[in-house]
Amino acid sequence: MKLIEFDKLKQDVWFDGQFIKCEDAKIHVLDHSIHFSSAVFEGIRIYNSKPFKLIDHLKRFYNSAKLLDYEINHDFEKLKNVCLELIKRSKIKNGYLRPLAWRRTGSMSPHAVGIKISTIVAVWEWPIYYSEEAKKKGIKLTLTKWKRPSNESAPTQSKCSGLYQICTLAKNEAFRKGFDDALMLDYRDFVAETTSSNIFFVFNKEVVTPIADCFLNGITRQTAIEICKSLNLKIIEKHISLNEIQKASECFITGTAAEITPVSNIDKLKFEIKNENIANLLQKEFNQIVNEC
Ligand code: PMP
Repeated sequence: MKLIEFDKLKQDVWFDGQFIKCEDAKIHVLDHSIHFSSAVFEGIRIYNSKPFKLIDHLKRFYNSAKLLDYEINHDFEKLKNVCLELIKRSKIKNGYLRPLAWRRTGSMSPHAVGIKISTIVAVWEWPIYYSEEAKKKGIKLTLTKWKRPSNESAPTQSKCSGLYQICTLAKNEAFRKGFDDALMLDYRDFVAETTSSNIFFVFNKEVVTPIADCFLNGITRQTAIEICKSLNLKIIEKHISLNEIQKASECFITGTAAEITPVSNIDKLKFEIKNENIANLLQKEFNQIVNEC
């Protein structure tokens, strides 16, 4: 995967009330969140110069901070307008917005009560994550040993930096083995998700997805479920074992970056890739929705 040259980012960043050049947005090396992994963030796709599901993403952003025991230091309307203004200023048609909040300096122990919070929103051009070819032929997943923790071990509904440590370990391992991403099980050994997207399977024309009880209930996942319902496809949320997926005809993933992307195989387990697949049907509907948003 090609690395992004953020050093050369031309677009301004909004930093606690001001639009500034990205290279001028400086933080302290002793910021608490760098040491204790408590930043929270969002990834919001821009289609045709409009943010997709901005309100839902911002709601999750505020909730992610709450779950980590802090409040975002700007009000909701303000951040909403900042996102819209960044798109306008940057003139970006197809891209990505990245709000991020974190704890500043003041403690070098886990104690963090009273520490100041900062928020930035960045924007960049990002027309596509998986290639058109991958969208047609499917991506390859490999099973990782890393497991999604229980709600008793981590704030699993928070999009917080700490929870991405296992995602990066799993994704790096998959990348080095020649796969596109990793499939993670949860602490009970049920199928959970990939490192940055939710997962769906098709069994006899019925669409099945794991219950999002220890990982993000993705906004794209919710959109895909709505599309299934609007197409009168049977959609079931349930715990799924690795054994069960051997019988699935199709597999696909959903996420802000991945959109709706078919999976061709999980290690040696192969899935059908055909034009008339349910994933293709959902992809078409999804493209229509994002283009009309
Ligand atoms: N799971 C993880 C771990 C993710 O990072 C993402 C991307 N935010 C998702 C699922 C999918 O969420 P969404 O559809 O809201 O982007």
